[in-house]
Amino acid sequence: MTSQTDDQLPIHDFPIASGVADFVRNIAAVRTRIAAAAERAGRDAREVRLLPVSKTVPEERIRLAVQAGCRELGENKVQEAARKSAALADLGVRWSVIGHLQTNKAREVAAFASEFQALDSHRAAAALDRRLQAAGRSLDVFVQVNTSAEPQKYGLQPDEVGAFLRELPQYSSLRVRGLMTLAIFTSDEVRVRECFVRLRTLRDRLRAENPELIGDGGLSMGMSGDYELAIEEGATCVRVGQAIFGARHVPDSHYWPGLTDFADGTAAD
Ligand SMILES: *Cc1c(COP(=O)(O)O)cnc(C)c1O
Repeated sequence: MTSQTDDQLPIHDFPIASGVADFVRNIAAVRTRIAAAAERAGRDAREVRLLPVSKTVPEERIRLAVQAGCRELGENKVQEAARKSAALADLGVRWSVIGHLQTNKAREVAAFASEFQALDSHRAAAALDRRLQAAGRSLDVFVQVNTSAEPQKYGLQPDEVGAFLRELPQYSSLRVRGLMTLAIFTSDEVRVRECFVRLRTLRDRLRAENPELIGDGGLSMGMSGDYELAIEEGATCVRVGQAIFGARHVPDSHYWPGLTDFADGTAAD
C-alpha cells in the first residue's frame, strides 16, 4: 500500500534506556514537556495521564521502568501483553491494551487487562462483555476513531461514533472513558494537529448531545513524536513508548498494517 507521506515520515532519535537512572531521566523529561505543553494551552498538567507503552520491550527492561515509577503500561498486541502480564504479575502493574483486538482474543484481554483503548466494533464489545461477565470483571474502554481518513487505519469513522456509543450501555462490564486516535503518520504538524482537533471536536459534540454516553469524555491521543501537539489540543492521555524506552527496531508497519516501512528498509513480517 502506498502512502502520500513517504517523503516526510517523522524521524526521531530516542536513545535506549538500559538502567533505572535512564528511565527516571526519560520519564522526567517527558513530564517536563507535558507540563510545558499544558501550560501553553492554559491547561493543568495533572489532567494529562502518561501511559508508558512497552511494546517490543523485554521483561527485564520493563522491570527497570517499573522501578523508575511506571505503574501502568500499554501494549499493542494481546499475546505479548498477556505473556508480560503473567511474567510480571509480581509488580502489580495496570495493563492497557491499545491495539486492535481480534475477537478470538477477547477472553485473554478480559482476564488480565484493566483497559482497552481500541474498541471499534460491536463484535469486539460483545465478545469482551461476555468474557468479562464470566470472569466477574469490568474494563475501561476508549472508542478508537479514525481521524486521518487513511483507509488502512483501524477505528470508526467520526460520523459512526454517536450510534456506536448509543449501543454500548448494553455491555454493562464496559466502562466508557472516552475516545482514542492515532494521528496521521507524517512530520507535517498541521495535518497531525488536524487529527487531534477532529477528535476533540467530535468529543465536544457527542458530549453536548448526550453526556452520559461518553463517560469522562477522555481523549487518548499523542505518542512520542506528537504528544505535545496532542496536549495542546486537549489530550487527557498520551501513549508514549520510544521517548521513555528508546527507539524500537520493529517497523511500525508491524503494528499498523498497511503503513509503509521506514526509510531504512526494515521490512514488516
Ligand atoms: C506504539 C504505540 C504508541 C506509542 O508509540 P511511540 O512512538 O513508541 O511513542 C501509541 N499508541 C499506539 C496505539 C501504539 O501502537
